[in-house]
Amino acid sequence: MIGKCNCGSVAFEITESIPSVYHCYCTLCQKQGGTASNAGTIIPLDKFKWITGESSVQKWKKETGFSSNFCDVCGSPVPNIFRSKYVWIPVGLIENINTQAVANLWLSSKPGWADPAKLERNYDFAPEDLEEFVQFLNSGK
Ligand SMILES: [Zn+2]
Ligand SMILES: [Zn+2]
Repeated sequence: MIGKCNCGSVAFEITESIPSVYHCYCTLCQKQGGTASNAGTIIPLDKFKWITGESSVQKWKKETGFSSNFCDVCGSPVPNIFRSKYVWIPVGLIENINTQAVANLWLSSKPGWADPAKLERNYDFAPEDLEEFVQFLNSGK
């Protein structure tokens, strides 16, 4: 599966099937995407490859540890490697993606104008066990 930013400078490949998707309603994701939530998934680093444009990736890091990667040409959010073993994927960059949304995160900070559907998992905050959550996303549902 190939993903690309709006201008095409940054492109990447996911070498195995795409995991399930989650929506995050935290205030950081709201500002990053300019909307109620962002839609992402997390894959193991060994399933991820940059095709082009790694040098166009800009990183902004908040003191709390949150970081946001974006294309320095068009500003699209782009994949973000974290903990040296996972990659956060903004799934809107992947064309013709055929996968399910299975979880809502940070519903406690959802804006009043958003009305998300209940999914298989619905967290008020972040999942406590990230490893378990990544396995859940990658379990092939
Ligand atoms: Zn771009
Ligand atoms: Zn978030």
